[in-house]
Amino acid sequence: MGGTDQWGDQATAAAVDDQFFRAAVTNSSSAIIAIDDDGTMAYVNDAACRIFHAERPALLGRPLRHLIAPIHWPLLDDPHGAVEVSGIGPHGTVLPLELAMAPAGDWRAVTLRDISSRSALRTVIENMPGAISMFDADLNMLACNSKLKEMLDFPDCLFAAGLPSLIELLRYNAARGEYGPGDIDELVATRVAQARRPAAHVFERTRRDGTVLEIRGAPLRNGGFVTIYTDVTARRQAEEALKAAMAESERTRQHLRSVIEHLPQGVTVIDANLDVVVWNSGFTRLLGIPETVMAPGQVVPYATAIRFVAQRGDYGPGDPEEHVRQRVELASRFEPHRFERTLPDGTIIEVSGRPMQDGGFVTTYTDITDIRRSAQRLAQTLDLMDEVLAHAVIAVFELDSRGCFRFARGLGRVIGLADEAALGRSILDVFAERERPRVHALIDGSLGQPIKGAMARRHDDGREVWLSLSGYGGCDVDGIRAGNFRGVLIDVSEKHMADLKIDELIDRLEQSALHDQLTGLANRAKFLHRFDDEIDRQRRSGKPLALIAMDLDHFKQINDRHGHLAGDLVLRETAKTLRGAVRQTDLVARFGGEEFLVLLPETDGDGALRVAENLRRQVAEQVFRPPGQTERIHVTATFGIAVSPSTAPLSLDALVEAADQAAYRGKRQGRNQVCVS
Ligand code: GH3
Ligand code: MG
Ligand code: MG
Repeated sequence: MGGTDQWGDQATAAAVDDQFFRAAVTNSSSAIIAIDDDGTMAYVNDAACRIFHAERPALLGRPLRHLIAPIHWPLLDDPHGAVEVSGIGPHGTVLPLELAMAPAGDWRAVTLRDISSRSALRTVIENMPGAISMFDADLNMLACNSKLKEMLDFPDCLFAAGLPSLIELLRYNAARGEYGPGDIDELVATRVAQARRPAAHVFERTRRDGTVLEIRGAPLRNGGFVTIYTDVTARRQAEEALKAAMAESERTRQHLRSVIEHLPQGVTVIDANLDVVVWNSGFTRLLGIPETVMAPGQVVPYATAIRFVAQRGDYGPGDPEEHVRQRVELASRFEPHRFERTLPDGTIIEVSGRPMQDGGFVTTYTDITDIRRSAQRLAQTLDLMDEVLAHAVIAVFELDSRGCFRFARGLGRVIGLADEAALGRSILDVFAERERPRVHALIDGSLGQPIKGAMARRHDDGREVWLSLSGYGGCDVDGIRAGNFRGVLIDVSEKHMADLKIDELIDRLEQSALHDQLTGLANRAKFLHRFDDEIDRQRRSGKPLALIAMDLDHFKQINDRHGHLAGDLVLRETAKTLRGAVRQTDLVARFGGEEFLVLLPETDGDGALRVAENLRRQVAEQVFRPPGQTERIHVTATFGIAVSPSTAPLSLDALVEAADQAAYRGKRQGRNQVCVS
């Protein structure tokens, strides 16, 4: 040390040497210590005392090793340039030091520099969340932390020959496609030009594996720059997710808004401040609130909306402001509520509010006027039905698909079976065995059409009642019965009995109107009626129609000799004989006192002749014994035949006239004979 080469000449060196070095050593901010051969400290300057927090006497004469951590002792034996060692401070604290050692005459001069701040900085850099690199003005890397290699995937070989230059790193990145496609030299040149620009910059780079790096550069005073790399992938992903979520929630909001707008009900959303923040047009329409009060898209205080309605008189008489106050007070409790209100125009609305989690509530307003009215009508109808059922012997019911009662009302009075007891039982059980096939057919074939039928049923008290069953089935979907049979059962026994009596009466009236009282034979009226039918039949069949006229012989004498009653007996018995001797299709009628006509459809002259002859014989064979008389009565009759051919049918009068004429001829020729017209 202190060679003449550092000084201008020998003289100057000699003049300043001692004094100069003494001052320099004393004032140095580094600790300067002289140790002898065995490492004992022989000299320490002020800085050494300051760094180790010790008085000079406490240091002199002690081995230097006492001030250095044992792991660094090997460095003391063969120091090579400046080395970093851990010094031992007061109470064993660690002092980051840079140690240099050089022989100086009989001693060795040891320089110790406090590098705490540098070490602290290095710790900070090493422990930074990001990667950091520092380049000088010539783009050589001065320092970096281990995260740089990690984060940017730089291989160890790039760092094998010391720290790489910026150009080496850029070239490596460009080659592995980090900067996208393009010519490597150009990609590198562009980035070198950027790096040389002395301006702070921030940009992002998305790496090929999808990670995003934020690269933040700041120029240094000496022309170099520091670059900090931060992996912002997670942050970017979170931002993207947030953006997507916000877009999504905006879509949801739009969707909800549209749903709310199209709801048939009125809807309001009132927030925790009692502001109406959302409402649909259904609400303002239903409550008749004009846009001047609630302008679309605005936030309207709940009290404002209420005040309009209150001033209109919706809440009845009283101070509108008081109504508003009460309602606002009620709303601010944020409790679920549901009530009905009748508007001045008669509209009934149901108001239903549900609180929301974060305060406020959603309220729906539903027009239930129609529902209430139909409910009322239904109740009235049911009342009416109950009343009707209570006073009439009528049962209404519904059957299930198996024909069993699933609902019944009024069965008790109709069939003596309590409604509840009937449930689940087949309707067929209600009817007498013989009627069941009919009932089954009626119910089965009654798709959508009413059915009616009177059917017998044995009442529980043993009396047979007549029931009228009517009703209808449900809709018929592709032949499959879709609905259940609903019907009415009415006790029609009385009517049925009355009907039977009327039928009988009608029969009797008919009998007396169309039949002769004495003989029971058809009278003139019935004969005329029947003749018309036979003329029609003849027209169709094309066959002749024959008529026999019969007149009892000397009947006046029978009356005269035996009395009128005997005459009547003869007339009755002869009628019986005539009726028993002809076909079912032939008609025997009494036309006058003792004159009879026999109409023979589809019969020609020969046929009629045979019939008449048979009748003549049978009449003549009759023997009468009138009560209380001993004498027997015999009677004969004379017959005239006329035939109406189908080709030229005769009128009734003409045919009867012709038959009468024939009979008249028979009378003249001696009676008890048959003459043909
Ligand atoms: P003829 O052989 O020419 O037919 O002689 P007839 O006596 O039978 O004829 P006529 O016409 O003179 O007499 C008919 C009688 O029949 C007169 C009447 O008293 C009697 N007569 C008519 N209707 C009834 C009746 O309902 N009952 C009775 N018992 N007699 C009757
Ligand atoms: Mg006569
Ligand atoms: Mg006669």
